[in-house]
Amino acid sequence: MSGIQARLNAISAVINYKPSHAPLNYHDTKPTDIFGANVFSDKVMKERLPKPVYKSLKKTIELGEKLDPSISDVVANTMKDWAIEKGATHFTHVFYPLTGMTAEKHDAFLVPDGKGGAIAEFSGKLLIQGEPDASSFPSGGLRSTFEARGYTAWDVTSPAYILENPNGTFLCIPTAFLSWTGEALDKKTPLLRSNQALNKQAKRVLKLFGVETKLPVTSFAGAEQEYFLIDRNFVFSRPDLLIAGRTLFGAKSAKGQEFEDQYFGVVPRRVLSFMMEAERELFKLGVPVKTRHNEVAPSQFEIAPIFEIGNLATDHNQMIMTTLRSVAKRYGMVCLLHEKPFAGINGSGKHLNYSLGNADLGSLYDPGDTPHDNAQFLVFCAAAIRALHKYGAMLRATVATASNDHRLGANEAPPAIMSMYLGEQLTDVFEQIKKGKVNNSKSKGIMNIGVDTLPPLPMDPGDRNRTSPFAFTGNRFEFRAVGSAQSIAGSLVALNTMMSESLDYIATELEKATKGDSKKLNAAVQTVLQKIIKEHDAIVFNGDGYSDAWHKEAAKRGLPNLKTTPDALPVLTTKPVIDLFTKYGVLSEAELRSREEIYLEMYAKTLKTEAALMVRMASTIIFPAAMRYQSELAAACANLKAIGKDFKMSTLEDITAKLRSMQTSVAKLEKLLSVEGKNSHAEAKHLCDKVLPAMNELRSFADALEVVVADDLWSLPSYQEMLFIR
Ligand code: ADP
Ligand code: MG
Repeated sequence: MSGIQARLNAISAVINYKPSHAPLNYHDTKPTDIFGANVFSDKVMKERLPKPVYKSLKKTIELGEKLDPSISDVVANTMKDWAIEKGATHFTHVFYPLTGMTAEKHDAFLVPDGKGGAIAEFSGKLLIQGEPDASSFPSGGLRSTFEARGYTAWDVTSPAYILENPNGTFLCIPTAFLSWTGEALDKKTPLLRSNQALNKQAKRVLKLFGVETKLPVTSFAGAEQEYFLIDRNFVFSRPDLLIAGRTLFGAKSAKGQEFEDQYFGVVPRRVLSFMMEAERELFKLGVPVKTRHNEVAPSQFEIAPIFEIGNLATDHNQMIMTTLRSVAKRYGMVCLLHEKPFAGINGSGKHLNYSLGNADLGSLYDPGDTPHDNAQFLVFCAAAIRALHKYGAMLRATVATASNDHRLGANEAPPAIMSMYLGEQLTDVFEQIKKGKVNNSKSKGIMNIGVDTLPPLPMDPGDRNRTSPFAFTGNRFEFRAVGSAQSIAGSLVALNTMMSESLDYIATELEKATKGDSKKLNAAVQTVLQKIIKEHDAIVFNGDGYSDAWHKEAAKRGLPNLKTTPDALPVLTTKPVIDLFTKYGVLSEAELRSREEIYLEMYAKTLKTEAALMVRMASTIIFPAAMRYQSELAAACANLKAIGKDFKMSTLEDITAKLRSMQTSVAKLEKLLSVEGKNSHAEAKHLCDKVLPAMNELRSFADALEVVVADDLWSLPSYQEMLFIR
């Protein structure tokens, strides 16, 4: 189908949309019955596994003790029986390659029994280890193709689960993905390693405070996921949305988000139906999704779960992304997880709420009532201040992608400069510590809401500051620079590791100063806190992160401002970062180099694809439409002339000029695209500094044409149609 007809069909399909399947039977199935129904959960294990096996497995899951391989056959068998009862025919080791995606390869349980029949089999060996062909996953030089073998290793700490399809189900086993030499080819392995490092160092600090806990200290993560929903029919008519996940062309809609009528607004009916089904699917998988709401931009929404242990939260966030995508299709929509699908309105991010603790201790970032009394809390805060000051650039590198570049620093997401918002109360405490005295903290104020029938609400000590990339929000930090399409693993690994290093430093200082004498602890804590805040308070900033004044001030303070991905990624292989990751056994130098290489390549591939697509769309869609309009106008002029009216048509001149500019622009972009960089960094730099501006230039001419060419000749669905017809 061509031209305007496709666009009209899309609109008609949206307007006449009817659900393709029956509504959910929500009366009969209570959420409490559904929750975790498809998870090989603690409850299922307790019921089905022999007691000693259950106990042994539990020790591995909860206390992080080594898995006893002798129990694996029993666990595998029980898991298989449970899965088959739930309709499973296959199992898969689920893993998380460096593309940020979720990967799976299915194997049937059935094997021929030699007598013409078949039996279902699943051994401990198959549960513990898999061998997917790794050759097509990026390894960044860690493994050459002739050594394509990679293996997956069961992550006992993240429960297995069942995924459903109308035609059957299959068992999913979360795994780590490594090369045959043991190098991490994935996002999970370093995360598990960083949790171990964190546990060790946090426990040293806690021990000094007389806190003993049997459970490991771990990271907690809660990821707020933003996304757009667009009717599928629009996507089919827009090659850019289909292939790049974002619009490469498109004039701004007359109405955008400026009315602020969307945020927390009533959720449209079809969207709400989608949300309810997506949540139900996620409940079945034990993902504790909690909040849903309209976001700031039109057709933008958010889903957030209750926070969990970092590793589980990461797997669950991957499931959330997969589920949003697949359920949206059932409702005739496409879920766009891209960080910037539409120019001129907000993009999508993923606020990563982060804290440390465990089930015994709660959050170690919970200040209690008077923060200055709570020395332990302050020590953990100081560790974060020091960590962010030392390794902010590295943390920034973990969110560097081509798509997130459109968002960071665009005055809607935090700037690329890493700084920490502490809030008035905590800042005051640390200022007093710096001066050498801690008397009182500004006590929690009571918010006066002026309505007598309402109770007074306690004011959050870490008030909201949406412009800060790293904000203290009462009992946790909120890292706001993660992209909506990204895995949260990279940032979590960075946070865990940099926190480990700071806790290590603090523990060492305190151990030296106290020499086992707990009476000396208070003075030692004062000293170390003072030292840290004196050296590292440049990272603390409570003001407006969007302002020019801050950019100048940040430069004065020596805080890096790594604006683009090619600027940021090389940080991963600087000496301090290599030293950090190798010291705590989280990533080797080779693993870091491979990551820099892979992410640079992914950046280059994204930009090249987008640029090539722009050239094609400009030449085959936009140029012909504008040409047709140009000839219509030219014909009209000729006709007028023929009847003796010499009519000067400014539109014709305008269009002709724009068409010419667009052609020049296309040629320029094609030429720039043919240049190859001598290595991946040079290539990324070229794409960033030369190709991207040329893409923007081409877009500006095309978008200018869109607002003058006759609408019935324009075949691409417009911004207003995509964003406001639902
Ligand atoms: P807001 O939009 O106001 O930031 P949301 O409710 O959308 O709040 O999201 C807050 C997220 O922070 C949730 O996922 C929540 O579970 C998580 N969270 C709350 N407390 C902690 C904590 N101590 N550690 C980590 N995450 C937390
Ligand atoms: Mg939120």
